[in-house]
Amino acid sequence: MKFPLLVISLIILFINPASISAHFFPNITSIPASLIPNGTGWEAFNSLLGCGRGMKVGGLAKLKKYFQYFGYLNSSSADFSDEFDDPFESAVKIYQLNFNLDTTGVIDAPTLKHIVQPRCGNPDVVNGTSTMRFGKPSNTNSTIHTVGHYSFFPSRPRWPDSKSELTYAFLPENQVPETVQSLFSRAFDRWSEVSPLTFRQITSFRQADIKIGFFSGDHGDGEPFDGVLGTLAHAFAPTVGRLHLDNDENWVIDGNFITAAPLSAVDLESVAVHEIGHLLGLGHSSVEEAIMYPSIRSGVRKVELANDDITGIQELYGSNPNFNGSGPVLTPRQERDSSSGHSLSGHVVLFIVVVGLFSLLFV
Ligand SMILES: [Zn+2]
Ligand SMILES: [Zn+2]
Repeated sequence: MKFPLLVISLIILFINPASISAHFFPNITSIPASLIPNGTGWEAFNSLLGCGRGMKVGGLAKLKKYFQYFGYLNSSSADFSDEFDDPFESAVKIYQLNFNLDTTGVIDAPTLKHIVQPRCGNPDVVNGTSTMRFGKPSNTNSTIHTVGHYSFFPSRPRWPDSKSELTYAFLPENQVPETVQSLFSRAFDRWSEVSPLTFRQITSFRQADIKIGFFSGDHGDGEPFDGVLGTLAHAFAPTVGRLHLDNDENWVIDGNFITAAPLSAVDLESVAVHEIGHLLGLGHSSVEEAIMYPSIRSGVRKVELANDDITGIQELYGSNPNFNGSGPVLTPRQERDSSSGHSLSGHVVLFIVVVGLFSLLFV
């Protein structure tokens, strides 16, 4: 009897999603055709083009679930029928404001284009309040000129000052390769360049402040992943420190994308920089250029912090003393890495001294 039990345990161990290493590809051309899906995961919503208040269309209930998932519909009041009701119209309008679209309240083509894009699993609306600031007025005649910018989680949680160095570790079962480890190191550097925070990788997953893991489907936190594209990752507010990425994505490590990138290629570093923003306390931004914008088109690489991101993180933690506000500042490690540059300037100084001595001797 013991033998079958052992076999069953081994099978369970091997089919445990966390024990499977994620799909990492050195570049987009290395993704096998069999892994490239036909759509974005949400392409079925395309049949809802033109839906508006009072209409009843098959598939609308599923779109309501999508809106509920990202916080636009209250779970207690949401009616998940195929009826386009008033609460759903209000939800669509808030969504359109957040994504800088005309607030038609109708599932029009520009709205649909945003809905089907792969995106972060964190909600845009928390406890009924939009965490995204509206980017621009809905029409040019509007007298409301709000400026879209960064946001925080409700009650603005942040890491305490006593934790200016945060440690991070990868889920051991993922067997994250070194290339991915250095990719995350670069992603953390983006944030430490502009803030007083520093980050250090450690091996102990249990002891790390920030725990990074790739998971498939339901992974025990009530926010299941949905396979290729759709939601890509999510991260928790300070000081939870959990960063989860969808194990089923085709994660591309070398972000040198070409325009003909396969639909399902997702730049891991872009997503990492975004999710680290959440770990540090930033919510979503309606500024499209910002790292904290919720969605990313497949094949797009976006790793540079925008002014919006920098202002947001500095409002929470203050600035890096070396940050001059105009560009990235080298971290101590990068300075060590670029030591050849320093030795070159040393040679220049030596040359000037030697020339000076010669000129003194011969005058
Ligand atoms: Zn996000
Ligand atoms: Zn999760």
